[in-house]
Amino acid sequence: MNIIADRIGRIAPAETMAMAARAAELRRAGRNVISLSQGEPDFPTPENIQEAAIRAMRSGKTRYTEAAGIPELREAIAAKLANDNGLIYPVAGISVSSGAKQAIFAAFFASLNVGDEVIVPTPCWVSYPEIVKMSGGTPVCVPCPETAGFKLTAAQLEAAITPRTKWLMLNSPSNPTGAVYSRDELVSLAEVLRRHPHVWVLSDDIYEKLIYIDTPFNNILNVAPDLYERTLLINGVSKVYAMTGWRIGYAAGPTQLIKAMNLVQGQIVTSATSIAQYASVEALTGSQVFVETSLRAFNQRRKQVVEALRRIPGLQCREPEGAFYAFVGCQELIGRRTLSGERIESDQDFVRYLLDNANVAVVSGTGFLLSPYFRLSYAASVEQLEEALQRIEAACAKLL
Ligand code: PLP
Repeated sequence: MNIIADRIGRIAPAETMAMAARAAELRRAGRNVISLSQGEPDFPTPENIQEAAIRAMRSGKTRYTEAAGIPELREAIAAKLANDNGLIYPVAGISVSSGAKQAIFAAFFASLNVGDEVIVPTPCWVSYPEIVKMSGGTPVCVPCPETAGFKLTAAQLEAAITPRTKWLMLNSPSNPTGAVYSRDELVSLAEVLRRHPHVWVLSDDIYEKLIYIDTPFNNILNVAPDLYERTLLINGVSKVYAMTGWRIGYAAGPTQLIKAMNLVQGQIVTSATSIAQYASVEALTGSQVFVETSLRAFNQRRKQVVEALRRIPGLQCREPEGAFYAFVGCQELIGRRTLSGERIESDQDFVRYLLDNANVAVVSGTGFLLSPYFRLSYAASVEQLEEALQRIEAACAKLL
């Protein structure tokens, strides 16, 4: 009898983490690899947040907390949602988790019956379809090509909805494309959703504060408040406050669903880490200067990366509007040969070629369900990016 459950065979490992692990392995073996494969800010967590964690530790805030999270953090989240987003949630409608990823898991685990469908516009973050599958659901991936700005249209949404549809996933700004939905685009999606009252919306707003264009951030509830009773908002501190390792995310939504998610959370991790929760109170209520300075730094890198990529023959780069990724087309390089005579058959071959020959780790579009592309994270220093882009250019030039 196989010790591994059948369901594990249906789950793909996160390609982002696999590439980061491969890059780390090559570095340990002495190779000078630049990894642009993972989605995490390269800045240290701001001092005031670190200090808050130390204070929490020293004052004995080191015990289990309520499954839903400490009241101080849930109150800080409610205040943030009211002030930044104009969305009003009671503290009972908020659940703190060990990262936004776990909040999404709890939401699907708490709501999906076997065979329930989740509409996932693709390209998408690697984990959405896998978390849906882990919870017994069926991801319904809807390809959103570059010509449509990598965004779901109302007509596509209408066509994808069936009686089994339980959720629509929305992620703006998007990982991996950086695309940001405008108010008008959200209005048209909301019009479709009104015709299908059984469909809920899971809005993953984790990159909310990383927008570089004039379009302000909008959650679908800002244009369609009537969807409040069937929308779950997901956010967290990982990306905006350089706190990826602290593992704090949160969900806000109808209390019936939040209660069920708390039950899941309570049975799998009891609560998110107490110290990290206190640090997150400081992140949300303390100085926000870091958010502005890091946004400026990311914007400078975004411009640097887009300009450099556009100069490389064979690559196409649409300007990302948010997050810290460029999603780069490599169609023209498919079919070329390496100096050793191997044919580049896919974006997966291309990223392997970059890693092996240019010592640069990026992630193939296949991992995000749209090919032939690769995702380059510009959450790295200007110097590293410059060096990596030179290496990519040289590697592309060598393809015959
Ligand atoms: N949602 C998106 C779109 C992401 O890109 C990520 C991380 O890469 C997450 C959620 C998970 O964030 P967290 O670190 O809070 O689990």
